[in-house]
Amino acid sequence: MPGQDDMSGTELRRQLAETARELGARGLNRGASGNSSVRCAGGFLITPSGVAAHLVTPESLVFVTMDGKAQGELKPSSEWRMHRDIYAARADAGAVIHTHSDNATALACLERPIPPFHYMVAMAGGSLIDCAPYARFGTAELSEAMLKGLGSRRATLLAHHGMICYDQDLPAALALAEEVEGLARQYLLACSAGRPKSLSDAQMAAVLKAFATYGQPQEA
Ligand code: 13P
Ligand code: ZN
Repeated sequence: MPGQDDMSGTELRRQLAETARELGARGLNRGASGNSSVRCAGGFLITPSGVAAHLVTPESLVFVTMDGKAQGELKPSSEWRMHRDIYAARADAGAVIHTHSDNATALACLERPIPPFHYMVAMAGGSLIDCAPYARFGTAELSEAMLKGLGSRRATLLAHHGMICYDQDLPAALALAEEVEGLARQYLLACSAGRPKSLSDAQMAAVLKAFATYGQPQEA
């Protein structure tokens, strides 16, 4: 995780509280819906359960170990298990964001994945963004379904619930959450005007290849 391993706990708390507030400010989450976390030594820091985004402070964040033990004054997010399971399964995950953002949730309520109607779908690491089957919030069943929905990608919709994504650090995860919501909005718009065509497997494979060298080179 470039740029994150050397960050202090204080800096990670500051960044996570800012991300939670930003999710509210950008309209990606409302009230206490959604949650976010960041990996740190021995486990991860996660937003507290039932606390509105604008009230999340660095001190209110909860440290959770990889075996699910919480340390903090407040209870951790009820979705700590989804976050923990992503960190356990994906060595490249440095931060996880779960939202109930309107357009991603609207598609998830139709139990519909986001197909490769636009090349930016590849930003999540594959040629579609799947929709995991419904299971009650906070359950191991939901986490299991979510991992299947992710497959080898970094984002999935959660049926009748919302979406979840991860990336190497909080800024990258926030950018991906915003992109998934934007793609869901564009897909719904395109569907309202006609039947959007999908790019082919070969076209998406070429995009995924080009993404490997897109943008500025990563610092070592
Ligand atoms: P928490 O407030 O416990 O994080 O729950 C919000 C949520 O989105 C549940 O899926
Ligand atoms: Zn939720």
